[in-house]
Amino acid sequence: MSSLHAYVTLVTNDDYAMAAVALVRSIMHSGSEAAIVVLHTAAVSDNALSQLDELGAELRSVAHLPTSDAFNQRHAKKNIHSKSPFLKGEKPKFHTPLDNFIKLRLWEMTEFDRVIFLDADTIVVRNIDKLFAYPEFSAAPNVYETLADFHRLNSGVFVAKPSRATYENMLMQLDQPDAYWRRTDQSFLEYFYPDWHGLPVFYNMLQYVWFNLPELWDWKSVHIIHYQYEKPWQKDHAKSDQLRILIDLWDSYYSGRNISNIDELPNPIDNNH
Ligand code: UDP
Ligand code: MN
Repeated sequence: MSSLHAYVTLVTNDDYAMAAVALVRSIMHSGSEAAIVVLHTAAVSDNALSQLDELGAELRSVAHLPTSDAFNQRHAKKNIHSKSPFLKGEKPKFHTPLDNFIKLRLWEMTEFDRVIFLDADTIVVRNIDKLFAYPEFSAAPNVYETLADFHRLNSGVFVAKPSRATYENMLMQLDQPDAYWRRTDQSFLEYFYPDWHGLPVFYNMLQYVWFNLPELWDWKSVHIIHYQYEKPWQKDHAKSDQLRILIDLWDSYYSGRNISNIDELPNPIDNNH
């Protein structure tokens, strides 16, 4: 373990703070001793934060990025949803696209030499400390519908090297006149790091792989599960029946009771459901 390494996530409301409880527990359960930092905005309740604090996460209060009003307007929820609708799945009500950009604040955390950023809606099911030795910028592909998407990046998991200069450069490029990032931080990071280093898909297994590309799912290799679109803590969402095994796994990390042994779970191709 190095004190120069940290896992970082972001939560801007109590729903995502709840998700971070499962994530923080999962990182600890993976046997990592690296620091875990939760970036949170003022909108998160003390009660939600105290749970994360008790688990041993370091809490850091952050503000939105200092982007212009015009930028914020272009990336307001109603504008993103009408201009670039989500056709493949549903975004929960508590998801505010503009908040995604706050992730970029991790580049300000220059006391760390490397950070692994994880969306709050991910869980680490096998140790991933080795990623701290990976270069900036490493991320896994955005594969959840077809194998043709291996060249696209998903920004829910990535390895980065904090740097003031990078952060300032990002802010400049982000808020250019008329800039519109249709998938927010993800579109921006893809643009900012055109030569991003590809991590194996198993370091960011998107939950839709379970039913869209079941032949790709192999528990022996899966390290991180990412619950993109519908969230496992939403009651009875549109895909809960199909994703029951993954939701039960998330629940076990959230409660911390009887954390499921992934080596005993069926792969989707072995399982009729
Ligand atoms: N996030 C947040 N509040 C929001 C939107 C996003 O805290 O209103 C953070 C949180 O860490 C979340 C990540 O940004 O996991 C990206 O959003 P999400 O995971 O919902 O997007 P998806 O993975 O479904 O594309
Ligand atoms: Mn996510």
